[in-house]
Amino acid sequence: MAEICTSPVTTQQEVGQRFNVLGIGSGRPVIIAGPCSVESEAQIRAAARAVKEAGATALRGGAFKPRTSPRSFQGLGEEGLRLLAEAGQEVGLPVVTEVMDTADIDLVSRYADVLQIGSRNMQNFALLKQVGRTGKQILLKRGLAATIAEWLGAAEYITASGNDQVVLCERGIRTFETYTRNTLDLSGAVAARSLSGLPVIVDPSHAAGRRELIPALSKAALAAGVDGLMIEVHPEPAAALSDAEQQLDFPDFQSLMADLGLLPECQLVSLERCRAEIDRTDEQLLRLLTHRLRVAERVGELKRQSGMETVQPDRERALLERLAAMAPSPLGSGDVHAVWHAIIALSRQVQIPSQGD
Ligand code: PEP
Ligand code: MN
Repeated sequence: MAEICTSPVTTQQEVGQRFNVLGIGSGRPVIIAGPCSVESEAQIRAAARAVKEAGATALRGGAFKPRTSPRSFQGLGEEGLRLLAEAGQEVGLPVVTEVMDTADIDLVSRYADVLQIGSRNMQNFALLKQVGRTGKQILLKRGLAATIAEWLGAAEYITASGNDQVVLCERGIRTFETYTRNTLDLSGAVAARSLSGLPVIVDPSHAAGRRELIPALSKAALAAGVDGLMIEVHPEPAAALSDAEQQLDFPDFQSLMADLGLLPECQLVSLERCRAEIDRTDEQLLRLLTHRLRVAERVGELKRQSGMETVQPDRERALLERLAAMAPSPLGSGDVHAVWHAIIALSRQVQIPSQGD
């Protein structure tokens, strides 16, 4: 593999300062959402409102579209940029959009907070060098047939031009598989992140090309530790002028954000939504509790093997005190004691071997 010498990010604070536009390093994943293409004022304004409400941290929308066929919708150009910037401003979200040509860099920079280099332009070296000189944050998508080394080499063209604010985006690579549009390379995303020290986000929409796969891929990506996601969201996906099969509608995006635990609390406005959130939280609690009991069971075995007492009051007391001291509002330390007494009682139960053991 080629030597990789982008300037590695060392601390969370440094990441936060360097990538403040997208809020990378805040501890919360960055969620860039919006339509594939900006199609009209009504469409982009509706999308901006919906993604903001669901907890997205940036708005996307293409104005210059890299389409396989010249007969396909090519984007609204400057008009699209203006509509995107206005929609972003209206809801208070930074905007991300693609620049395809060196001749458009100044124009796109006037409207965009983050410049996207699309997959098909990942090795357009003139473009990489020039966007590096804008001082804007750059979202560098991985080429659909690019190795990790080529991808990081492309990032280095930008950083070498004096811009270290590069965010990498894994968006699927082309494999022999045709059921999906591309194949999401999560191992590539994770490896690129640790090799370069740069933030990496995952775009499950272009990777899968099928909307029903997006929730699972999003969860997998965040579980793998990437810094965020880019997801295509459209008010009426079936009528979209580009990428109709892979865009989520507003309710689906909203439930995905709820599933990811990223729906803002201020959005819990209806009884129905609150109940769905409670159900989701209870399911998580149940999973965690089961896991805790399984671990306790194993602890019981280990204690028996080493001839230790099953009940260790000092350890229980220390555990309770530690948690009580951490108790965040509205939980008080008394509440923590009450809940964990019950949990510890259950754990003792599973540690004691059943009759005949
Ligand atoms: C896009 O994000 O709009 C896009 C065209 O993606 P990619 O360059 O990854 O195909
Ligand atoms: Mn698209």
